[in-house]
Amino acid sequence: MGMTVEKTYQAGDAIESKCNRCKDVRMHVVVAMDGGEIVKVQCKTCGSLHKHPKPKKAATKRRGARSVAKTVKALKNAAEQVQDWENALNGKDMGAAKPFGAEGSAVVGGLIDHPKFGVGVVQKIVPPNKMEVLFRNGPKLMVQSM
Ligand SMILES: [Zn+2]
Repeated sequence: MGMTVEKTYQAGDAIESKCNRCKDVRMHVVVAMDGGEIVKVQCKTCGSLHKHPKPKKAATKRRGARSVAKTVKALKNAAEQVQDWENALNGKDMGAAKPFGAEGSAVVGGLIDHPKFGVGVVQKIVPPNKMEVLFRNGPKLMVQSM
């Protein structure tokens, strides 16, 4: 992983390679070379001769990098989301949150306490009977009462 400088081998050098007979990575001796590439190796454990598989590059590495970038983005979005939620709660009394569905809880700027999503801030009322509530996990459109 992340090897930029490739060691150059020559016949007689020792190298780790997957041995088909031992079915494991074993120390091998380079037997034949072709232009800077190892073409044949001999297992030091069982003595069998076989081809040396070319090292796999790029493909898996690229996929790994992309999924990391995606995770970072998701984390960033989640962090921003929590920040929005904290800003919305700023200056409000968490203890004043009304249980979700309680009478008078559907008020813009009011806090409600949802059994599943936690404390949220009512962002807007959506007629006839819904409201958008900003929870820690993001805004949700909900029916005003259960
Ligand atoms: Zn072997």
